[in-house]
Amino acid sequence: KQAGVGFIRFFDLDEDRETKHYRRIWLEVENGFKEGEFELFYQPKINMRTGEIVGAEALIRWHHPQKGLVMPDSFLPFIERSYLSETLDKWVIVQALNQLSEWRSMGLEWQLSINITSRSLQQAHFVSNLAKRLKEYGTELAPYLEIEVLETSALEDMEHVIAVIGQCHALGISFALDDFGTGYSSLQYLRDLPVDIIKIDQSFVRKMLHDPNDLSIVGGVISLCRVFNRQVIAEGVETAEHGEVLLLLGCDFAQGYGIARPMDAGALMVWQAQWQVKPFGLVHNQAMFG
Ligand code: C2E
Ligand code: MG
Ligand code: MG
Ligand code: MG
Repeated sequence: KQAGVGFIRFFDLDEDRETKHYRRIWLEVENGFKEGEFELFYQPKINMRTGEIVGAEALIRWHHPQKGLVMPDSFLPFIERSYLSETLDKWVIVQALNQLSEWRSMGLEWQLSINITSRSLQQAHFVSNLAKRLKEYGTELAPYLEIEVLETSALEDMEHVIAVIGQCHALGISFALDDFGTGYSSLQYLRDLPVDIIKIDQSFVRKMLHDPNDLSIVGGVISLCRVFNRQVIAEGVETAEHGEVLLLLGCDFAQGYGIARPMDAGALMVWQAQWQVKPFGLVHNQAMFG
């Protein structure tokens, strides 16, 4: 009995410590937004057959005053289930619309994908907030905006997510199913979720050159996307070889370190000026990767 009481006490203490740890991070993040410590980086996406830049994915970075550049994996898990997920997503939407306006004023007809937390997606006013922002920045931007939703969060409340996708489609915004293959990936989801594009998770792409099972999965997903009339993009394209295999398998688009790493808006302009628009597997050789 005594041990039981001790155990309970120990457990409470631990939980208390965890709550404090979360609270500290929340305060830091909240303050970080106020102080302008966050920035969106952009990773280009290309059409594999033509080599053209079709757009970019926005990826958040935190310029922490003490820790320097902090990557999303080290703070998002603490905030994406909290009230701060809305602060984050609202900020991302405004930044993305700003960036899209800027690109358009430069004559760049690029799409911009943003990652949205599942918590925001479940919020009743998500679409109305998005529509309000679009009105502010210009509804003509809508076809250039794409929302990436994790396969795992789309499945949390399928019916609601299907409705949200429909409402966003009505505004002109497209949807991508992110990290495909890491959730349940059933045929039923592929059939019922009205997403425009499937993003094959990078874990399969990375291993496909060495593991025949992963190669089959990637080939299978690409074929399924054909059947269900969805576009398909591969993440984690790290080398020319990845690109060549994906092109042979019929993949539409590619994103990965082999093409470019995520970078700030200024660096992206320098990079795009140097990018050579050529079909992927044929002309791009090792020299272009590195
Ligand atoms: P994600 O949406 O699947 O984004 C792709 C991640 O893979 C990015 O990591 C990107 O830098 C990385 N990546 C791209 N190409 C390669 C490659 O060839 N090799 C390897 N090893 N990695 C590659 P990052 O920027 O660290 O973001 C991690 C995750 O954090 C994202 O995964 C996304 O789920 C989340 N995230 C990032 N930015 C945001 C944001 O603004 N809002 C929300 N809600 N989530 C975000
Ligand atoms: Mg993503
Ligand atoms: Mg992904
Ligand atoms: Mg991911």
